[in-house]
This record gives sequence, C-alpha cells and structure tokens, in this order.
Amino acid sequence: MKEARCGQQHGDSWPRRIIALAMLGALSVIFLACAREKNTSAAAPEATASAAPPASGYSAVSADLGPPPSFNATRAMQYVKEIVAFGPRPVGSENHKKVEDYIHAHLKGDLVDDDYFITDTPEGKFPVRNIIAKYPGSRDGIVMIASHYDTVYSLRNTTFVGANDGASSSALLLEIANQLRGKKRDGYSVWLIWDDAEEAMKQWSATDSLYGVRHLAEKWQDDGTLKKTKAFLLEDMIGDADLNIEHEQNSTPWLEDMIYQAATRLGYQSHFFARTIPMEDDHIPFLQRGVPSVDLIDYEYGYNNVFWHTPQDTVDKLSPKSLEIVGMVTLETVQMLDKKK
Ligand SMILES: [Zn+2]
Repeated sequence: MKEARCGQQHGDSWPRRIIALAMLGALSVIFLACAREKNTSAAAPEATASAAPPASGYSAVSADLGPPPSFNATRAMQYVKEIVAFGPRPVGSENHKKVEDYIHAHLKGDLVDDDYFITDTPEGKFPVRNIIAKYPGSRDGIVMIASHYDTVYSLRNTTFVGANDGASSSALLLEIANQLRGKKRDGYSVWLIWDDAEEAMKQWSATDSLYGVRHLAEKWQDDGTLKKTKAFLLEDMIGDADLNIEHEQNSTPWLEDMIYQAATRLGYQSHFFARTIPMEDDHIPFLQRGVPSVDLIDYEYGYNNVFWHTPQDTVDKLSPKSLEIVGMVTLETVQMLDKKK
C-alpha cells in the first residue's frame, strides 16, 4: 500500500487546532461554565474531534448484539510465525506457492474458491492467486474481509518477510475463519479474501499495484457480486505492538464510524483514529465501484514508519494483543452490519 497524502491535510489541521485552542482560551475567561464544556471536547482524543464525521446513512445500532466475539490471539500469532517461517513470498516464488498451500490447508472443509490468472507487470508475466473462503449466512448479502499475503517483489533477495505487512493480516483472517467455521450465521454471508500481488512490482502506480483485487473487483462487478456486497473490510499491517489504526480518509465515512463504534463497545477505541491519513490500498478498486469499504491499517510501524518495507519487519515487533484487538473489532463490526437496517 502507499500513503496518498494530499498536501493540504497536514498543513491545515494544526493552524486550525491552534485557532480553536486560542478561541477556547478566550471563551474560558468570559464564560467559565461554557469553557468547562468546551474543555471536555478539547481534551478528547484528536480522533473524536477530527475523525468521526457525522454518520451519514448509518443509524446507530441499539439492538443487543449479544456477547462480544471471541478470538484466539495465541493461535493467530502462531499463524503469523508460520507464514513468516516460509521466508520472503513474492509472486512467482516457491515460497509463495508454499503459503498458498498453507492457507488452503487451514481451510479444509470450507467453501473455497481460487481466482487464478496470469498478469502482465513491469517485471514480466506472473501468476496471481486470490483465495476466497465463503461462510454462508441467512441474510441476503455479503460482507468481505480481505488481506494480501504476498511480499514486496523488489525485496525478494533480502530477508524481508513482511511479518506485519502481509503475514499479520493473513493470519488474522485464518483465525477469523476458525471463528466462523461450522457456525450458523444469522446475518450476511462472510467472504474471507487472501488477495495476491498487492505490492508493486517495480514502482507503485495505478497499474503497478493491487493486481489481485483489481481482478476480483472487475470480475465481481461483471457477475453481480458487488451489487450484493454490503461492506469490504481491509486488514493491513495490523500486528504492530504499538497499535494505532488510522482514520483512513478514502474509506467510507459511515463504515469508519461503525468501526469506531465497534472499537468503543469493546473498550479498544484508544487504538483507533488518533491520526487521519489517506491510503491507497486494496480497498480502492472496491470503493471505485461503489462498495462501502474501510482500510484498517496502522501506517506508523516504528517511529516514522521506519520498519515498513524493510528486513526489520519481523515478528518481534508484533503483539498477539494487537491481533486480538483488530480481530475482535472486525468481528464486532460484522455483527453490527448483520443488524444494520
Ligand atoms: Zn507493503
């Protein structure tokens, strides 16, 4: 994925905040009682001030969703370690095939589709394989949860294993599969997507990136699947021990709202939306086709994102607790979607 910062965003927010604080100071002198109220909002995390736009189209779910979802963080972390143990897994490599087999082996008995094709890239032709596991629900419609599992092609001859970038989210989906398997879903069908060739082959561009999801989005637009898709939830770099999920600006506002509500219900909101940034990621082809989509991503992996796309992206930087937080918030969001009018 790539950060798609549009210059305005940062230059804007600080002065605005300073002006807001100055005004707050002035008001507090004149209206003490009033200032007290304002202070509450000033002290609130940046997220609630800037990141939670008024819900549009989403009416808050007040119905009882039942007990919080369960998620086995130890098992999810074990999956991360096992995926990483294969070594770098760029498209076209032997290790990549091993990870494909590994994912399939964990989905035995489930309804699994492979979306296999050959794609043209600036580095030549490559095989791409998206793996989709489907868990049917009683309600007409689909909620998709996705993660890429490839590693960066240009880093194929380094020790880059993408523990956070690719492995953490792919492991998360395997554990979500465990939670969905064999249970009657009283809600939408859930499709888990291990998508391939997310990373650029040479240099990130609209045509050199997101190969797997671009293929899926096009195919599913043609066959009518997207019309039935209620939400696309993307997981990326969600294992960082210092977990701060971004408020991602390209994502669908009402769905971001729902994520924040789910996090709040579970008491995990301090890990969400402290920062607002736009990302180009696997959700883009779905957004472009009108599917409500969110990118759950922590794009500050080490100070200034220093571990991102480097051989330092290793398991020791991750925490099972982070997998649990994102896994549970994702499952809580699915339950909220199930109940959404
Ligand atoms: Zn990456």
